[in-house]
Amino acid sequence: MFGFGKRRTPTAIDRLRVGRWQCATCDVEHGWPFDLAARAPDPWPHEAVYEPNNALRLEGDFLSEDFCVLGGQYFFVRAVLEIPVRGLEQPFGFGCWSTLSRTNFERYVAGFDAGDYPADEQWTGWLCNQLLDYVGDAPVGVWVQLRTGRQCPLLWVAEDDEPLAVCQEEGMPPEEMVGLLNRYGHGPRG
Ligand SMILES: [Zn+2]
Repeated sequence: MFGFGKRRTPTAIDRLRVGRWQCATCDVEHGWPFDLAARAPDPWPHEAVYEPNNALRLEGDFLSEDFCVLGGQYFFVRAVLEIPVRGLEQPFGFGCWSTLSRTNFERYVAGFDAGDYPADEQWTGWLCNQLLDYVGDAPVGVWVQLRTGRQCPLLWVAEDDEPLAVCQEEGMPPEEMVGLLNRYGHGPRG
C-alpha cells in the first residue's frame, strides 16, 4: 500500500499512525487516541452549561457533566462509543449521550460516586448525538456497558446493519477516520 525505502511527505494516515498532528482549526497539536465529545444530548434545548452532578434534579431540565434530564421525563448519561481503527492500537472515542430508563438512570446515579456496578447487566438506550456521515436523525439503539472505577459507560450499537455497528465490529479503515476527523476540522489533513 505504501512505498518503502523512499523519502516522501507523510500522508494523513501516517500522521494518524504516528499519533501527532497539527490541527488546522485549534492551532494546537492533537494526538491519537482522539475523542470527539458532545457537551449535551442533541435534544438539549438550552445552552450547554453544566450544573454540578450533586445538584441533580429529576424534575424539569437538568444538565451536568455526566447526567441530563429533559422535562422530568427523559434521562441521559454521558457515555463513550469506541470505534477501533484498523492498524491502530487504540480506538477513536465518540463522547456522546445515551438515554436510560428512569429506573436504570436512578441505579446509575446511585452507584456513580463509588463507581461500583454489577458486571453482568446489559442496559439498553438510544444514542442521542449525531455523528457526521454515521449517525443522522434516525434513532440508533445501543447496549450500555457499565464500567467500574468511575469510567463512563461504553456504548455498543445494537443494530447490526447500522454503519457504526459495522465499524465497531470490523474496525474503521484509517482513510475513513482521517475523513471523519477532517470533517470536524481536527484531522491530519493531507
Ligand atoms: Zn482541533
